[in-house]
Amino acid sequence: MFKPKEPINVTQPFLPPLPEVTAFMQEIWDRKWLTNSGAFHKELEAQLAQYLNVPYVALCANGTLALVIALQVLRITGEVITTPFSFVATTHALWWNNIRPVFVDIEPEFCNLDPEKVESAITPKTTGILPVHVYGHPCQVERLQEIADIYGLHLIYDAAHAFGVKQAGRSLTDFGDLSVLSFHATKAFNTFEGGAIICHDERTYQRINYLKNFGFAGETTVVAPGINAKMNEFQAGMGLLQLQYMDEILAKRAAIANRYMELLSSMEGISFLTPGPQVDYNYAYFPIFVDAAAFGRTRNELYEHLKSYNYLCRRYFYPLISSFNMYKSLPGAEPSNLPTATRVAEEVLCLPIFPDLGLEHVDNVVEIITSYKK
Ligand SMILES: *Cc1c(COP(=O)(O)O)cnc(C)c1O
Repeated sequence: MFKPKEPINVTQPFLPPLPEVTAFMQEIWDRKWLTNSGAFHKELEAQLAQYLNVPYVALCANGTLALVIALQVLRITGEVITTPFSFVATTHALWWNNIRPVFVDIEPEFCNLDPEKVESAITPKTTGILPVHVYGHPCQVERLQEIADIYGLHLIYDAAHAFGVKQAGRSLTDFGDLSVLSFHATKAFNTFEGGAIICHDERTYQRINYLKNFGFAGETTVVAPGINAKMNEFQAGMGLLQLQYMDEILAKRAAIANRYMELLSSMEGISFLTPGPQVDYNYAYFPIFVDAAAFGRTRNELYEHLKSYNYLCRRYFYPLISSFNMYKSLPGAEPSNLPTATRVAEEVLCLPIFPDLGLEHVDNVVEIITSYKK
């Protein structure tokens, strides 16, 4: 075991070589067109549509504004069923649209919204479902679509973790009415800040374009109280560069995850998620779950112990969104209604995983965990 001199974070962004960035910047400088659907913006939308094999990609300034706009473009109101086990932005996007979040528990296999518990949470005010492909593992998309169809609900996926993930060869972002991606620095594909909405028809794409640009539909026409959620040319250029390295990024992530899985597979008290049979996974995160009784230490003890060795793991997603002050008094937000999410939030610890993480660190992290077990 060793203690790295500098702290190792749970993630570190992939950055393309600086000379390549400079060449892209030169193009922006030459064109003097910085935002408002510039050349890089158009090109990145086209390349992402091809890469993800989806009909339309509408780029946004970040994933949160993309979520806010996705809810607006479908005119979702009233109540929306969502998961408490996510990053806060999922629920905040509902709040910013004056929509009441209705929290439904997760299933224990992949920690995603449990379709079997969705139906009983539907009321006359329900207009949509907002599940999250947590850690990039697919939700039960067929079952959720079935429920959405029966009850006439919109289905929007928060796919912030799911860039590049495929299920039976099909991009996960192709499911539902809309999917929302985040290209934040911490995500598997980043544009510093950024995001996108995946949609299936030209009209919706056009409406998203209005909404992300103040509602402008022409020089003097405003068709909606839109917001400013445009992606700028710097971000788009970074995306174009990053995309060239995506195969390498995913291969490095897979190697790290496979090493963790190999080394941790026989450790009592520690479990992890294994990608489903027909899933091309992106290894965006490597969460482990600490069963305190079997491991002899709690998740928080292990978190602190790894921190003392300069490995800064993160407890994604703890606390649950439903436990934050602004949401905790909502009907259904109480822990007794969310037993699986409540347990998982106490057990989860995300270990470091990023393309430039050397395998010696993976071995070291596992050694630290092993030697700490009681
Ligand atoms: C990162 C993230 C977001 C927000 O994306 P930003 O681009 O940071 O605004 C939304 N939902 C989930 C699940 C996320 O992890």
